[in-house]
Amino acid sequence: MDCRKVEEKLEAALEELATYYQKNHLKPNPSKTQVCAFHLKNKDALRELEIYWRGERLEHCTTPRYLGVTLDRTLSFRQHCINSKGKLIVCTHLLAWHPHRCGAAATDAERTKQETDARHPLHQHEPASRRLPSRKSFMARSRTLEGSIENNRVTRWTQQLTTREPPREEMVLPFAAWKSLNRLRTGVARWKTNLLKWGMSEDDDVMCSCSQLQDMSHLLVCPQLEEGCTHEDLILCNDKDIAAAVFWKDVV
Ligand SMILES: [Zn+2]
Repeated sequence: MDCRKVEEKLEAALEELATYYQKNHLKPNPSKTQVCAFHLKNKDALRELEIYWRGERLEHCTTPRYLGVTLDRTLSFRQHCINSKGKLIVCTHLLAWHPHRCGAAATDAERTKQETDARHPLHQHEPASRRLPSRKSFMARSRTLEGSIENNRVTRWTQQLTTREPPREEMVLPFAAWKSLNRLRTGVARWKTNLLKWGMSEDDDVMCSCSQLQDMSHLLVCPQLEEGCTHEDLILCNDKDIAAAVFWKDVV
C-alpha cells in the first residue's frame, strides 16, 4: 500500500477520533501520540509517516513499546529480544555468586538422588560422552553429597568466606561520618565541582572555605584538615581518613 494513502486514511480516522473525544469530554494529546508503520518493504524502511493531528505532527517511532513489548517495522521482535537480553544480563550478574554455593549444593543433592533413588528419572543413567560443548550434564559438574544439603551450603559459604580477607572496620563511626567516608571512597559526593556539574550549585561557587578549588582531591588535602590523607588511607580506614570523613560529614 502506498504510504501517502496510509497517511490520509489515518488522518481521517484521527479526525473521527477527535470528534468522539470532544463528545465525551476527553482531551486528545497529540504530543504523547506516536505512529509507526509495520511492513516488509525494505525500500521504505526509512520512510517516516507524516501524520498531523489537530495541526500537530505526530512523532514517528520505529520501535514503539506496547504493553511492555517493543515492536518493530517487520514484527521480527529483534529489538524486544535485544532489550530483554540486556535486562537478563543484569539479573544474571546479580545471581552470579549464587551457583557456587546454594546452586552447587542443590546440584550435588540432585546427583545424590540420581545415584540412590530408583524413582529418579535418570537413575543409573550414564551420561553420554559430550559431542557438543553445550551438552553439559549436571553429572559432570557434581559430586555425591555427604550430609544434608543445608550443611553443605553452610560449608560452602564458610570455605568461601575464610578465603577472603576479613572486613577491616566495624560500624563504630557515627552514621554521618560513615556515610561521608564511603562517599569519599567511591568518589561520588557533594563537593562543589560535582554540585556544579550536577546543576545543584545555587551560586556556581566552586571554592572551598579555604579559598581553593573544592574537588575530590582537595577534600583529602584541604588545609583545614589537621592531617591530609590519601585514597589508600580511605581504603585502609585509618585515623587520618576517619578524621577527614568526620570533618566533611556535613558537607559531602
Ligand atoms: Zn579547602
